[in-house]
Amino acid sequence: MKVCVVGAGASGIVSAIKAREKGYDTVILERNNRCGKKLLLTGNGRCNLYNSDMKLDYFHSSNMKELEVIFNKKSKEVIDFFKSLGLVIKDINGYLYPFSKESKSVLSLLMKRMESLGVKVNYDTFVTGIKKHGDNKVKVMTDKGDYVFDKVIISTGGKVLEKTGSDGNGYDLVKSLGHSLTPILPSLVQLEGSGDFYKAWAGVRSEVRLTLYEDDSLVKSESGEVQLTDYGISGICTFNLSGVVSRGLYKGKSEVIYINFVPWFGGSVSDFKDYLSKKLEELNVDLKVLLNGFLSEKLVNLFFKLLKGDHDLMHVADMIMQFKFQVVRTKGFNDGQVCSGGVPLNEINPETMESLKFKNVYLTGEILDVDGICGGYNLGFAWMSGLIAGESV
Ligand SMILES: Cc1cc2nc3c(=O)[nH]c(=O)nc-3n(C[C@H](O)[C@H](O)[C@H](O)COP(=O)(O)OP(=O)(O)OC[C@H]3O[C@@H](n4cnc5c(N)ncnc54)[C@H](O)[C@@H]3O)c2cc1C
Repeated sequence: MKVCVVGAGASGIVSAIKAREKGYDTVILERNNRCGKKLLLTGNGRCNLYNSDMKLDYFHSSNMKELEVIFNKKSKEVIDFFKSLGLVIKDINGYLYPFSKESKSVLSLLMKRMESLGVKVNYDTFVTGIKKHGDNKVKVMTDKGDYVFDKVIISTGGKVLEKTGSDGNGYDLVKSLGHSLTPILPSLVQLEGSGDFYKAWAGVRSEVRLTLYEDDSLVKSESGEVQLTDYGISGICTFNLSGVVSRGLYKGKSEVIYINFVPWFGGSVSDFKDYLSKKLEELNVDLKVLLNGFLSEKLVNLFFKLLKGDHDLMHVADMIMQFKFQVVRTKGFNDGQVCSGGVPLNEINPETMESLKFKNVYLTGEILDVDGICGGYNLGFAWMSGLIAGESV
């Protein structure tokens, strides 16, 4: 049997390994002149490949039931698969990395396994179309000519960071096969805010709690380090809210994030006002000095400017604990780490990843409507779906 994998990214590589392990003649068609271009860039070059707390709660998909089937089938096997390649894994607060902290380790072990099994890779080959061939075969058209296969796995990724090869062309491929797409939006991405004061806080990093309200309803909170930039906010806790924000803005909802710059203070705004008042008296210092004890100078100066001389402690406490950040837009696809949206999982069989629209075609990875938060979840889904497709062809 002849199997074709379109795209040598994370999910394509593992699906090719599994198909070849079954003894099938397996070829990957990859538009780049190398495999795993994006994989090498993951986790700032360190590749956060999985998470020890791999739970459905950390994912978004419009078909969570189907995602659960995929999880039940494979989430427990991913780490064993990498160990079987020889990878030694380091656990940093649940985030799993290669012990070398180099994504190269992951890619070279995958490449070695492909080589030893005899998976063929045709580089510089751009797949332009997929068609039915006879009753049971699939024709794959490329810029190098046409090929006929028994089974085809589409692993073309999403459309973030186009230079890695995943530029969204895969969406046209799957649409031509009869699939629909949920809105494709950037996720794990920076957020731009309204107002013109951002230059004043640019460069500050602060431990905060971010609380997202959508059309005035509480949605989600995230704690961690926020990076304040000249357009708004960035950093992992921002990214982890960005998928919800992206989808909300797309639907025309108002997305407001309240930033609590004193997450170490347990009480309410009024309690914080009392705390400030008590400390001012106790320490006999002025307000700026007191605030400088726990906030960066840039922030204190900005707050004073925004308060326009109003030093009412309730207002000061409110600004510090509930700083209103009205999101106007997210940064674009080339700034994000993953796409939210894609082919809905109810258009594939989650037991096999086979398309329900086009026989003998399978879909894996980011082209599907699944996205996770930061922490190895997106590669996690790429591995799980790739393993299932490869084993099922
Ligand atoms: C900067 C950055 C950092 C990230 N860090 C992490 C992280 O640390 N942990 C994590 O879990 N996730 C991370 N991600 C997300 C993760 O990299 C992706 O979710 C994952 O790579 C998706 O795998 P995939 O197999 O679906 O597609 P990809 O890895 O994008 O691979 C798709 C492949 O298909 C090829 N291709 C596309 N179209 C065609 C065509 N028509 N013909 C031939 N070939 C084609 C492309 O060239 C590419 O090689 C990061 C993403 C980015 C951008």
